[in-house]
Amino acid sequence: MRVVVIGRGGREHAIAWSCEEHGHTVSLADDLGELTADDVDLVIPGPEAALVDGVADECSFRKIPCFGPTSKQARIESSKGFSRHLADSLGVPGPVYERFEELDADGAIAWWRGFGKPVVVKLDGLAAGKGVIVPADDDETEAAIRSTAKLGPFVLEERISGPECSLLALCDGNSAVALPLAQDHKRIGEGDTGPNTGGMGAYAPAPVAFDATELLATFVQPILDYYASSGTPYVGVLYAGLMLTADGPRLIEYNCRFGDPETQAVLPLLETDLAELALACTRHDVSSVPVGVRDAVACTVVAAAPGYPASPSTGAAITLTGFSTTDWANRSSDDPNAILFPAGVSDGRTAGGRVLAVTGLGTDLAAARAAAYRAMDGVSFPNMIVRRDIGWRAPGAMLT
Ligand code: ATP
Repeated sequence: MRVVVIGRGGREHAIAWSCEEHGHTVSLADDLGELTADDVDLVIPGPEAALVDGVADECSFRKIPCFGPTSKQARIESSKGFSRHLADSLGVPGPVYERFEELDADGAIAWWRGFGKPVVVKLDGLAAGKGVIVPADDDETEAAIRSTAKLGPFVLEERISGPECSLLALCDGNSAVALPLAQDHKRIGEGDTGPNTGGMGAYAPAPVAFDATELLATFVQPILDYYASSGTPYVGVLYAGLMLTADGPRLIEYNCRFGDPETQAVLPLLETDLAELALACTRHDVSSVPVGVRDAVACTVVAAAPGYPASPSTGAAITLTGFSTTDWANRSSDDPNAILFPAGVSDGRTAGGRVLAVTGLGTDLAAARAAAYRAMDGVSFPNMIVRRDIGWRAPGAMLT
């Protein structure tokens, strides 16, 4: 089938790779342009901004099947206040929270003092991963509330703790199937230190004690039931960011699209044709496509530009060794167990904060890491930032 993927980052290259592996013709595009139902069989939007802007609504108007939720449904990601309220009202387990209007720092500080426990401060709206502050102490909490209150409505949440994992559910409006659970690495520095980024690496499946079906029932099905009963079934990815606390899994956030870089780790594990699955979702019939997952582990490592995340410098030439081509659209490596996913690359030069990712595959995480880092050893540009410890929290990961 002819698939158009909206977006040009690493995640979109992984979606394209996955569809091409099953013989589909894929093009990456910034937007729908003049596309009609005669030109394309399926649209898969990558970034949340496209969904918030209504790409799925426009596809529906043009009668093009689109694997993504409507603009209204994308609020589940674009408003943390809305998302928390929805989850809470449906009984989805999450931290205690309260939403405040812009400039209401005094109200928020009073609530926090009454609450009496550490909190996390989150801007309500989309902030490209920069709207969340996890303060270290009371002084920082007060400062974080005051600075965030100046930017817009915001949410205070009980600070919970535990390992995190990402559940990516492919939703057909009534039911969903889960991709292997992934673990992201958001901080720029090794040992999970330094500022938050879009994500410096991921691996899957994450060794967690919860079964994906159980997690789907708790964190995804209530949302699907809600939208189905309100007359607009939710079609597309529903991503639940979870924290596995001592009291059980808790919702950190919902995203309305594939995660980046989790997608680069998860899709190479999917044996099933992603395009067929996504198309079946648009027909409210995901169960018509049996899902197969490879018995392997995938580890994705990101190479970022110097200065990332605050102010990445771009324009440097990238050299590749060990890759069978310098054609960036061909993602192959000399090693059959490594795949290259370009992100911020233009004419062979760095053109974004996260420049590219490589995914290594292996029978266990140690082998997958080794394949990823071997491939990454063939990538070079000046002052490239690569975390050498992706997967470090998993038992046995660092053996090689
Ligand atoms: P993303 O880039 O994933 O979209 P975001 O800006 O939407 O991030 P969240 O995912 O809500 O923000 O939070 C970012 C990170 O902050 C989480 O991955 C988690 O590590 C931490 N965090 C968020 N909420 C809490 C909480 N209630 N308790 C403890 N830590 C939290």
